Amino acid sequence: MEVEKGRGGHVLVLPYPTQGHINPMLQFSRRLTHKGLRVTLVITIQNLQEMRASNPSDPAFLDIEHISDGFDDGLPVDFKLDTYVDSLKRVGSQTLDSLLTRLGAEGVRPLCVIYDSFLPWALDVAHAHGILGAAFHTQSIAINTLYLLHHDKFSDKKTDITTPISVPGMPILESSDLPSYMSEPELYPAYLKMVVLDQLSNMDQADFVLANSFDSLEGELSRELAKAFPLKMIGPAVPSVYLDNMIADDKGSDADLYKAVNCLGWLDERPVRSTVYVSFGSLVGMPKEQMEEIAWGLHASKRFFVWVVRTLPRHLEGRNLLPKGFSEATKDRGLVVSWCPQLEVLSHRAVACFWTHCGWNSTLEGLSLGVPMVAMPQWTDQLTNAKFVSDVWRVGMRPKADNRGIVGREEVERCLREAMEGETAAEMRRNAERWSELAKEALDEGGSSDRNINEFVATVCFRQV
Ligand code: UDP
Repeated sequence: MEVEKGRGGHVLVLPYPTQGHINPMLQFSRRLTHKGLRVTLVITIQNLQEMRASNPSDPAFLDIEHISDGFDDGLPVDFKLDTYVDSLKRVGSQTLDSLLTRLGAEGVRPLCVIYDSFLPWALDVAHAHGILGAAFHTQSIAINTLYLLHHDKFSDKKTDITTPISVPGMPILESSDLPSYMSEPELYPAYLKMVVLDQLSNMDQADFVLANSFDSLEGELSRELAKAFPLKMIGPAVPSVYLDNMIADDKGSDADLYKAVNCLGWLDERPVRSTVYVSFGSLVGMPKEQMEEIAWGLHASKRFFVWVVRTLPRHLEGRNLLPKGFSEATKDRGLVVSWCPQLEVLSHRAVACFWTHCGWNSTLEGLSLGVPMVAMPQWTDQLTNAKFVSDVWRVGMRPKADNRGIVGREEVERCLREAMEGETAAEMRRNAERWSELAKEALDEGGSSDRNINEFVATVCFRQV
């Protein structure tokens, strides 16, 4: 179903203000605009400033408005998540409320607020304005099912979950496979509250629940969630241009969102399937010992690599530091960047393997683009995603850590060898390519996710609260 651009109605898209949440919602927005909706992305003032510092021209396919999280001048050095989440809820609700009032007065009242499921308060604000609310899950169906089935076993900082956990459609999950909020709730009380308890607090009142996943990947698992919520799988949130050439005019738009990094030019010079792409997402701060082992393992492997080493906010100082002498020692083989257009890198012919932390977006992107993975999760849902990558979808392998929890340089070298050459590498690639085809089928016209998006658009356009 294609309607004339902008004629299908206006929706707001409100992500939780970190990259791993903005990216999939931005990609989903792109699809909605292709279906004819007018989309306004609502981000915090900080996000807006960061986006404009990277690229002065906003993405052309949508409008941008901002709300405030109460920290318009940046996060404090003594950043505390619970203070932040409280402020985001309080100031965010007020500023979203004012935004909806203003848009109504300007005659562009949205039909629906598509809000990140980490921001359940947005549903209350939307409903107070008589506007539909669609929760958007940026984590897997498996993770959300675990939260749904076990949320009554959590209290503040504690859980009485016993492992292993057995859920139909999932592998047996040991404690080390569970999202860290479930296995170590005492370490992450603020996340536990936000991600498990608050997220589910009003989800049964949402008019739609959209999930960044697709039927052949997690269809069987989705049944439990679908009993509780009006669930629609609309993913993977990867533009079709990377899966085929369906939306050819979008090519390059992601690269434009970030600082120009000549990473793609560097990759053009490398042989086909010769390079490992290493990235631990936007938030992970790797301790010094682990950075050293990865660095010297990469060096010893003698393989080409692109490594994203994020510059971290002040409260994570001392992490993500490269060892002395590494850049000089690897200057002919490696490129270290602070950010890159990941979708373009993963779809580059030179890339043979993705060493990843298994954030849900990176997992879906690697899988959808047919790239074998080395799965090295650090915390949150990454642990469960990694279990599925290696044991269920069979597109990746897990490095073994020593008794300090560190993956040593010899293990880095071994994993790269196995993931890039020989029978294990070939099998993972075959599996990954199969998943890539299934992802493409889901998004192609008439595919399961495409149909779900069409139904969502049609319902939004013709239904009132
Ligand atoms: N990403 C990117 N460039 C980079 C590193 C990451 O574009 O150099 C994107 C990546 O494609 C993904 C998102 O940032 O869409 C990271 O989300 P993910 O869920 O994988 O991890 P998180 O950052 O939330 O831990």
